[in-house]
Amino acid sequence: MNSSAIRAVVILLVASLAAGYCGLLRAQDQPKPAEPAGLWDLAKSKQAVHRFSTLISAQQVRDHLSTEKGIDAAIDWCKKTAVSKVYIEVFRDGYQAKREALAHAKERFRAVGIEVSGCVTTTEVGKRSTGWRGIACYTDPKTQERVQEIFEYAAGLFDEIMIDDFWFTDCTCADCDAARRSKTVTIGQKTYPVAGDSRTGILPVGSTWEDYRCELMVRLSQDRVLGAAKRVNPRAKLIVKYPQWYDRFHERGYEVLRETADFDRTWVGTETRDYTDRQWGGTPQYEAYFIMRWLGGIGGQKCGGGWYDPYGTTEHTYVEQARQTVLGGARESLLFCYGSLLSQTGPKNVAALRKEIPELFAVAEQVRRRQIVGIAAYKPANSHPASEPRVFDFVGMMGLPLVPCHEFPADAKAGFFSIHALKEADLAKRLSVFIAAGKPVLVTDGLAQKLTDKVDLKRPNVRVLPVKGDPKRLLGLAQGELDATRAFALRALGRSFRAPNRVAIYLYEDGSWVVENFNDDPVTVELDDKPLSVPSRAWVCHWQ
Ligand SMILES: [Zn+2]
Repeated sequence: MNSSAIRAVVILLVASLAAGYCGLLRAQDQPKPAEPAGLWDLAKSKQAVHRFSTLISAQQVRDHLSTEKGIDAAIDWCKKTAVSKVYIEVFRDGYQAKREALAHAKERFRAVGIEVSGCVTTTEVGKRSTGWRGIACYTDPKTQERVQEIFEYAAGLFDEIMIDDFWFTDCTCADCDAARRSKTVTIGQKTYPVAGDSRTGILPVGSTWEDYRCELMVRLSQDRVLGAAKRVNPRAKLIVKYPQWYDRFHERGYEVLRETADFDRTWVGTETRDYTDRQWGGTPQYEAYFIMRWLGGIGGQKCGGGWYDPYGTTEHTYVEQARQTVLGGARESLLFCYGSLLSQTGPKNVAALRKEIPELFAVAEQVRRRQIVGIAAYKPANSHPASEPRVFDFVGMMGLPLVPCHEFPADAKAGFFSIHALKEADLAKRLSVFIAAGKPVLVTDGLAQKLTDKVDLKRPNVRVLPVKGDPKRLLGLAQGELDATRAFALRALGRSFRAPNRVAIYLYEDGSWVVENFNDDPVTVELDDKPLSVPSRAWVCHWQ
């Protein structure tokens, strides 16, 4: 056997072992190797299916990539972690990395077969916002000019530039307020009208803050980011990375439809972290899946991947972020960020992840081949959560297989509708048609209240979910209510699922499925009336 044939056999062996991990026969006591060998070869062989990448912040470029020894260590870490792409950051927190350090590091990584792109984090760029620390007032002309300079500098070095998720504003200074009242966005010498009027009745006349900020960030992106970068480097592709807080995007100027249309690619924040962590907690694991699929639906082929970090995580929750990102259909998992993964919770998380990487590649390959099916979960772009923030995440934790969507799911077999759906102008009419077709409709009590006189919700195929203005309470629903809700919603799909809370299910068109247990105890569930054991904090996959 020649060397390439031996290598092919090794890759095949690693891949088939991985496929076995996420199978019906996976036993809890089946040991995994401490650190699978051959991760780098596996990463290279699978990069068309899925890729792991990392980001090296501007400060870390200074601290870790300014010596040959530092670059050697970073390359070694990447290879051991199956990382085949790095984003080398140009700017963050007012610091701009040196051109020589960026250019040299880029060449060194490329020489060993690691792809390289750039990144910009727009924190401390100019006049400070009256809100979040580090965020800027982009109504300010000088700040607009500084943004342009930073992106021109980045485009002189890289053909692809990611923008970390601080590309928004929450400023309410006198200049911003005057611009909002005049319903005009001004970028340099150009002015743009802002659509919409204050609807709250609280604000003085003018546009709403969200309308002003969305127009401001869309126009600023066009003129000072995309335009500026492409004038310097016509090959430059810009990636907008959306934060994990999807229900509030538009309030701070992330306009997912127009920005996704304008940017070359999009990225998705899948940082759910530990639900019980004091500083970072409160987000259930399913959210990473929901947002990945929802933004994936908006972005289509433009949607590049997910992004998670080690802050406020244990090894379990870190690995769950990885699984949810892959189940969400991501083509790439960005591990933020190299420096943070070397300290505090980072090394333990990375050690746990490395053991899972062969399995994650194997599952990514299966997921990419299939269409998900289930209960359509409708969140229109720029919709307001009111008293039901991120309710989708908690509904997913109940073991309801959701198919996130941003357009009314007229053709779905079953649907879940919350207050968010009120963004749809024709909601009463379209929902009435959906209900009249006899499909199961799960509506939140909050939405039901708003539709009382407009839609017939007394039909037997309508069930009201008692959110009571507190989506988190869904994690504590009684078993009877859970089972009844699942039985009601899954009937139309010809499936049945009985399980405790915090066990999620993912269904595919060809009958394949994945069940993931987020509980600290093993569970026995019933899928289509057949018992199935799922170890604690683990998943079981069945591919047809
Ligand atoms: Zn301002």
